[in-house]
Amino acid sequence: MHDILPQDQPWWDKVRKETREVVDFYNYLRIDTPILEPVNLFERSLGAGTEIVEKQMFVLKDRSGDGFIMRPEGTASVARAYLQHGLSHLGQPLKLYYEGPMFRYERPQAGRQREFHQIGFEILGGESDAIHETQVILPIFRLLEGLKLKQLTIRVNTIGCKNCRPTYVQKLKAYYRSRLKNTCKDCQRRYQFNPLRLLDCKELECQEIKKSAPSILDSICSTCHRHFKEVLEYLEEVKLPYQLDPYLVRGLDYYNRTVFEIFSDFHTPDGQKLDFALAGGGRYDYLFDVLVGKPLPAIGGTIGVERVIEAMKAANINVLPRSRAKVFLMHMGVQAKKRSLVLLEEFREANILVAESLGKDSLNAQMRSADKAGVALALIFGQKEVFEDSIIIRDMKTGAQETVPLKKIVNEIKKRI
Ligand SMILES: [Zn+2]
Ligand SMILES: [Zn+2]
Repeated sequence: MHDILPQDQPWWDKVRKETREVVDFYNYLRIDTPILEPVNLFERSLGAGTEIVEKQMFVLKDRSGDGFIMRPEGTASVARAYLQHGLSHLGQPLKLYYEGPMFRYERPQAGRQREFHQIGFEILGGESDAIHETQVILPIFRLLEGLKLKQLTIRVNTIGCKNCRPTYVQKLKAYYRSRLKNTCKDCQRRYQFNPLRLLDCKELECQEIKKSAPSILDSICSTCHRHFKEVLEYLEEVKLPYQLDPYLVRGLDYYNRTVFEIFSDFHTPDGQKLDFALAGGGRYDYLFDVLVGKPLPAIGGTIGVERVIEAMKAANINVLPRSRAKVFLMHMGVQAKKRSLVLLEEFREANILVAESLGKDSLNAQMRSADKAGVALALIFGQKEVFEDSIIIRDMKTGAQETVPLKKIVNEIKKRI
C-alpha cells in the first residue's frame, strides 16, 4: 500500500478531471459503494476457484465474528447495489461509473500494489446488444487519449457462452494434457480448476506452450460468433484500433463472450515497453445469474489509475500543477497580521488566489516565501498602511511599488492579473 504524496497529486487531478469530462459526455452516473462487503459476495460472484478469492482477499472480522472483505474489485459491489436498491428503474440499460481504492493481497511487484485505484464503467440491464461493448470501450479509450497516452491498442476476444465454452475447455485440456509436465506449478492447478487461465500465464515456458494452443474462435457457437462479429463492426465504425487476441482471457469467472484489454505500445526513451494493461473488462451476463438466479445483460471495464499514471510518467507527459497564486500577501506588525486574515477572505470572495506566510513575522522570510511561490505581485501591509487604510503593491519583477487604498485593492489586483 502506498501514500499519494503532494508532488504526485497533479497526475491524480488530471486523471480525475479527464474522467469527469468523459462520464459527463457519455452520460454515466456515479455510484459509490463501501470498501467492506460481505465475504460471500465475492466468493459467489468472482468464483471460488479464482486467484482473487483463493489467495488475494483481505478478510476482516468484526467484534461479533462476522467476516468482511475489503473489496478486491468494483463490479460485484455495483451489481450488489443495483439489486439491493432496484436501480433498474433509473434506466434500461443503466450506465454507472465509480472510482476508488481496491485491495488485493498480492506479491508486491512493479505495477501491482495491494491498494490500488480503479475507475470503472458499467452498463447494466436492457438488451444484450453488442453495441454496449463499444459504449464501454469508447469512453475508456477517450479517457486514455485525453491523458495524452499514445499508441493505444485494444486487444479483444470472445470467451463464448455456457453452451460453447465447455467444448473449447475440453479441447484446451486435451492439448495441455501431454504438455502439463512442462508447465509451471500454477498452471498445473489451473488445469484442474480454471483451465481457461492456462492461457493467462506469464511464465516463459507456459507462454511458449500457449502459442500453439487451440483458438477459441474455432469453437464458439453461432450466437456468440454473431455477437462478436457485431462487436468488431461497431469498434470499426468509430475507428477504434483493435487486435484480435484469441488467447485473451480474464481472471474472473463471471465473464462471458467479449473480453478486452487496452495497452499502450509506447516505448520509453531507453527502449522499455510498458507490458501491462492500462484497462480491461468484459461482458458479464452471468454475474446476476449467480447472485439472484436470473441473468441480466451487463458489460463493464476498468482503468488502473496507478498504471495509467506510471505510463504517463514513462511517456514524459506533463501535467500542470494546481492553479497557483499570482499574488503574495506580506505583513509587518501585529495589527497588519490580524487584518490580513480579513483581507484574505475578501480575495477569496473575489475568487483570487493569494499566497501568504502569516506565521512568519520577518519581512525577509516572507520575501523568500514570495520568491519561492513565483508570484508576479506582492502586497505589503505594514503598520503605516494599517493606520492609513492602504496597502502597497509591489511588482516582483521590476521592484516598482505603489500605494493603493485598501478598499480598492481587490479590484486593483483583479485588473492586474
Ligand atoms: Zn456461445
Ligand atoms: Zn504457467
